[in-house]
Amino acid sequence: MPIAQPYSLLIRNAAQVLTLVGPPPDKPLAGAAMSEWRIIDLGYVACYGGSIAAVGPMHELDEALIGPDTRIIEATGRVVMPGLVECHTHLVFGGNRADEFQRKLQGESYLDILASGGGILSTVRKTRAASDEELLAQALHHLKGFRHYGVTTLETKTGYGLDKPTELRLLRVARQAGQRQPVRIVNTFLGAHVPGPEYKGRPADYLAYLAAEVLPEVQGAAEFVDVFCEEGAFGVADARRYLQRARDLGFKLKIHAEQLHDLGGCLMAAELGATSVDHCDYLTPEGAAHVAAAGQGRTVAVLLPLVPMFLRQAQYAPGRQFVDAGLPVAISTDFNPGSCPSKNLWLALQVACLKMGLTPREALAAVTLNAAWAIDRQQDCGSLEPGKRADVLLLHVPDYRELPYWLGENPVAQVVIGGEVV
Ligand SMILES: [Zn+2]
Repeated sequence: MPIAQPYSLLIRNAAQVLTLVGPPPDKPLAGAAMSEWRIIDLGYVACYGGSIAAVGPMHELDEALIGPDTRIIEATGRVVMPGLVECHTHLVFGGNRADEFQRKLQGESYLDILASGGGILSTVRKTRAASDEELLAQALHHLKGFRHYGVTTLETKTGYGLDKPTELRLLRVARQAGQRQPVRIVNTFLGAHVPGPEYKGRPADYLAYLAAEVLPEVQGAAEFVDVFCEEGAFGVADARRYLQRARDLGFKLKIHAEQLHDLGGCLMAAELGATSVDHCDYLTPEGAAHVAAAGQGRTVAVLLPLVPMFLRQAQYAPGRQFVDAGLPVAISTDFNPGSCPSKNLWLALQVACLKMGLTPREALAAVTLNAAWAIDRQQDCGSLEPGKRADVLLLHVPDYRELPYWLGENPVAQVVIGGEVV
């Protein structure tokens, strides 16, 4: 980077700059480090093109690097922080499940609805019937919503096709959605969401089909392979075999586990070197310590607090104990048509504080740097550091402690993605 060249963008006089920079640099934040990252009072963020050039207190700003073409944004009275990283969504699907929401309110459980051919399988029918154009239009609509909440990088999973042609179509649509708007997309293949309708009652056969016929064609189109390890979906032994195969093919691994029962899926995936283990509502604090050890501090537990809330489930992941056990924690919405139709990652952060016991600083780390680790994007985003992509939010509040406090509110005033105001 030529030092003498003026900044292209300067965000200055911020009441607080939440850098998310703190030890250790080679692992996600865990334990006390989740709340020990640096906050700069009265600070600035300077960008050069698409990257962050400098971050610091105003008294260290080099005025010589402000040129006639430097775009200046005054952030007086505002918190400035990294763009949100949304590390677990099911973005591309047909239709919605407002009808089943009614059934849930009348007392039917998630697994009852799934067993009656509803749930994921009803979205599979609507997704298979939808055209590419319909799926893309709906995905772009949802991405616009995420952007409005300050999401600048988003992971999305397939899993509503459950056959080769539709699953490949979902990956294609997700890629197109990434090209049509500025939020960066990370693709995960979740063909192993539940057994496809053609494989009802034969989960092992379905996984064998995916491993033999679909995974080889997904290479290059998806970076991660994910599996739903749960009663009514896939057992631990079958899921292990499938993830091992995926790893052999060069995929990075994720798992949906311990959402409704403690089957041991999180530990199994961590032993295989999974990048993240997601849900964890039924993972115990002792189990969390084992996952932290098996994952060598690199496997991130992705907590999805809006899901138990939307499913009216009493059990939330014991996030406080996870942090105390040294397990790195991220927070996501799990945006999907069945168990969380919300794109409000701020609300997820707030519910994580209220129902999982995270502190505001821990929760902020969980939607930024640790979420970036959960999708292997820690080199690009999740903190405000020179060399990282210039994904920056300006918020309506002057103090980060207000972020979990204004329940349900969207604090985002301005969103910068790759150095461009969007
Ligand atoms: Zn999910």
